[in-house]
Amino acid sequence: MSITGIKGMNDILPGEIETWQFLEEQARRVFNAFGFSEIRVPIVEKTELFSRSIGETTDIVEKEMYTFEDKGGTSITLRPEGTAPVMRAFIQNKLYNKDSVSKLYYLGPMFRYERPQKGRYRQFYQIGAEIIGVDDPKIDAQILAMLSHYFETLQVPDVELQINSLGCQECRPIYRKALIDFLESQIDSLCEDCVRRYQTNPLRTLDCKSTGCKNATLSAPDMLGHLCSGCKAHFDCLCEYLHSLSVPYQINPRMVRGLDYYTKTTFEMVTSTLGAQNAVAAGGRYDKLISDLGGPALPGIGFAVGLERLALMLNEQCSRLPRLELFIATIGEKASRMGLTLLTQLQRQGIRADMDYSGKSLKAQLRRADKLAAKRVLIVGEEELQKGLGQLRYMDESSQREVSLNGLEKSLAEEISLNLTP
Ligand code: ATP
Ligand code: MG
Repeated sequence: MSITGIKGMNDILPGEIETWQFLEEQARRVFNAFGFSEIRVPIVEKTELFSRSIGETTDIVEKEMYTFEDKGGTSITLRPEGTAPVMRAFIQNKLYNKDSVSKLYYLGPMFRYERPQKGRYRQFYQIGAEIIGVDDPKIDAQILAMLSHYFETLQVPDVELQINSLGCQECRPIYRKALIDFLESQIDSLCEDCVRRYQTNPLRTLDCKSTGCKNATLSAPDMLGHLCSGCKAHFDCLCEYLHSLSVPYQINPRMVRGLDYYTKTTFEMVTSTLGAQNAVAAGGRYDKLISDLGGPALPGIGFAVGLERLALMLNEQCSRLPRLELFIATIGEKASRMGLTLLTQLQRQGIRADMDYSGKSLKAQLRRADKLAAKRVLIVGEEELQKGLGQLRYMDESSQREVSLNGLEKSLAEEISLNLTP
């Protein structure tokens, strides 16, 4: 029996990868314009990094982490998210000495032991961005403007930016207490999980998918009504800036995030097109995280976009398969050799071209050219080769002309590069 891949971990195949490359290229272009630099960190870290930052009572740390002991007996974890590793690298490499503001982005696979379903996998990719060093709400507005612009450039249909505030060390405990008191009054309607954890992590009940919890918390107190004056001013300013930057948003006072490190601003990009997996991107401010991890007391804010969910939404729109500029079809060994030389010369000039290498019939070669969506096909037979001629067929216009093989490389290269979209 052949060996299969691991459940919930996908191959991304030609035909799909073009969408991914498009998403990645656009992200690099947009993030670069907003002043971000890429950072690459390992995919494994010491387990403690995640349990300390994400929080012991979160879903991720309680049940979703891939944790092992390495041969030296150290407990290591495949990263379930990117912010904690990036902050670890930021602190360890003292990036705060380079500039008072750091704008970093990352891209790569994350791992969570979840139940695989559409839009939810055990290995999945995120593109994320972080800004460290500024607590002014202007920076919250900038990162949201960037996220929103990224989605606009991709022309993702049907997404909405939702924002909320989770308060700070001052006001969150007061809200937490009010919420626990409320949940106690509803205890008979809560699901088993929420009964178990409402004391340790009451906010999670607001995010619970069970109908009982949903109904029971309809009139729960919300965080926005409990913000201290500092957090309220921060949130109001953010709303004002978003408005002046023409970034569309909705306030969702019930939004909570599955990671403990968030403070003040939190947000999600949500869609109604992916069923239960409705968040395509999510993030927030984490003003205590860096000092909690042993770094300087610097504030930060960031987000992560789930690439599988984004690709699912875009794939439904259109295919982005790149077309072949030229397919060379030949008859006979001599013509085939000439074809190989011409092909390689064109490829060296950066032109996407291909040929048949195995002496198939002309008909079969033309079928393959069609399948590869070639814009042009050069046909060279044995007799023609002796005269130094070939037939150049333009597939879109269904026209054909005789061309001289002498100097063809140069004239084709010129014609193709003129028509190449930048
Ligand atoms: P969800 O509520 O869907 O579980 P989350 O709150 O756990 O999401 P974050 O940790 O904030 O998600 O991650 C940011 C983004 O990464 C999500 O909005 C989503 O697009 C993507 N993501 C998270 N978990 C998965 C997964 N298991 N498979 C695919 N994408 C995921
Ligand atoms: Mg999750």
